[in-house]
Amino acid sequence: YKGGLRFHPSVNLGILKFLGFEQIFKNSLTTLPMGGGKGGSDFDPKGKSENEVMNFCQSFMTELSRHIGASTDIPAGDIGVGTREIGYMFGQYKRIKNEFTGVLTGKGLNWGGSLIRPEATGYGCVYFTENMLNTKGDSLKDKTIIISGSGNVAQFAAEKCNELGGKVVSMSDSSGTIYDKNGIDNNKLDWIKNLKNNERGRISEYTNKYDAVYKHGNKPWQIKCDVALPCATQNEINEKDANILVKNNCIAVAEGANMPCTTKAVDKFIDSKILYGPGKAANAGGVAVSGLEMSQNSMRIQWNRKEVDSKLKEIMNNIHKQCELYGTEGKFINYSKGANIGGFIKVADAILDQGVV
Ligand code: NDP
Repeated sequence: YKGGLRFHPSVNLGILKFLGFEQIFKNSLTTLPMGGGKGGSDFDPKGKSENEVMNFCQSFMTELSRHIGASTDIPAGDIGVGTREIGYMFGQYKRIKNEFTGVLTGKGLNWGGSLIRPEATGYGCVYFTENMLNTKGDSLKDKTIIISGSGNVAQFAAEKCNELGGKVVSMSDSSGTIYDKNGIDNNKLDWIKNLKNNERGRISEYTNKYDAVYKHGNKPWQIKCDVALPCATQNEINEKDANILVKNNCIAVAEGANMPCTTKAVDKFIDSKILYGPGKAANAGGVAVSGLEMSQNSMRIQWNRKEVDSKLKEIMNNIHKQCELYGTEGKFINYSKGANIGGFIKVADAILDQGVV
């Protein structure tokens, strides 16, 4: 099994079950041989000292180590769990088991990690968005893009949008949203990465450095855009937000986060026939490269950046093709239907082949 660990005060069994359920079909879509799983804790790393975070990660792994293993269940990161937390947990696992195995993914490059793993979810989401736009003879070039979140997925989604010629005008965190009409270019993005990954600051601080507007308590969805990439958390786009996006002529929404759009929001996008990429397809790049990290660990080799990135791109193309295959309705591609059917068929057939208990 494979899926992320989440550390956030909102974590409860219901959230982990929905994440685990989605993960099964997402992993199936990647075509890699992995079942789905998910885990976490309501521990809040925010405001904790380095030592408190390390102590928690070690205690968490002392228990978790009995349930996971390189051929059993290999967790990765999710909200609140990045390279730092993976490092502390990996170190503890190694201490307890006295072995160096690829039991967690998202590891640091010097101790078994894969190139492109930090970038994979964000990059993959943007590759998928580009695929969707290509079906309309369009691309991300010169598009105005809004992104929610400023964590791992959001940062690398923004980086890839910039590379493909898009203009990212908004990012956010759980306190509020910034709007930079001139675009968050890669220099500004580097500043955000340092703020969030090292200084662990708030996105509002962006306005002390750059010419931008900060709205406390707001999400980005009121800002006029061509493309919206929700990359923060679940249920962050409701029906009202979806109505605003459609009214503002947004042409594509791709989910970097897991289930960021409520069911009614998804219905609105599909009824309006705009391009809507569900998370289990659009954000599968992260787990896909985690799968590639496992392969490299087993083979005791490290692929270079270009190799991993081209494999990621190919996987995202294949996921897009599966959505087209199962989701085409006349001239419209219902990506939600396509991803659900595509992901389900492989799992259902495997269950039947292996016997039902
Ligand atoms: P991070 O912890 O790196 O970043 C999360 C971001 O979302 C932060 O900016 C955070 O703000 C914001 N956020 C968290 N909770 C809320 C909330 N309740 N309301 C508003 N904003 C919030 O996590 P990731 O980037 O790794 O994960 C983001 C999403 O992507 C999640 O849904 C995750 O499940 C999904 N995902 C992640 C993958 C990965 O590889 N990491 C793979 C596939 C999906 P603040 O700084 O204030 O906490």
